[in-house]
Amino acid sequence: MHEYPITKRIIEISEEFAKKNNADDIKQINLVVGDYSGYVASSIELYFDLIAEDSICKNAVLNIERVEPKLKCSDCGKLFKRKPFSFACPYCQGEGRPTEIGQEFYIKSIEV
Ligand SMILES: [Zn+2]
Repeated sequence: MHEYPITKRIIEISEEFAKKNNADDIKQINLVVGDYSGYVASSIELYFDLIAEDSICKNAVLNIERVEPKLKCSDCGKLFKRKPFSFACPYCQGEGRPTEIGQEFYIKSIEV
């Protein structure tokens, strides 16, 4: 449910961006959402369609680039995707530790 306020905020930021650039239309919003960001990409898409209808974003395409979380091996330093119920490194069987990869949440770009 907390995707509603964040989606509203994305549209507000787009409106401010359009104003600054003297544009009266937003063509595309490129968003980066990590799977561990706490936000569900499909919910943002759903709310976007609802909220954008009455805004400058009504014709905008929302592009969501999803990022899969990755672990970093504490032995060999390689990044890898975690298997269910396991933290083991597929290269050396060392122990993987969580990284920032997959926690992203930001607007990459706005096109007017
Ligand atoms: Zn390793």
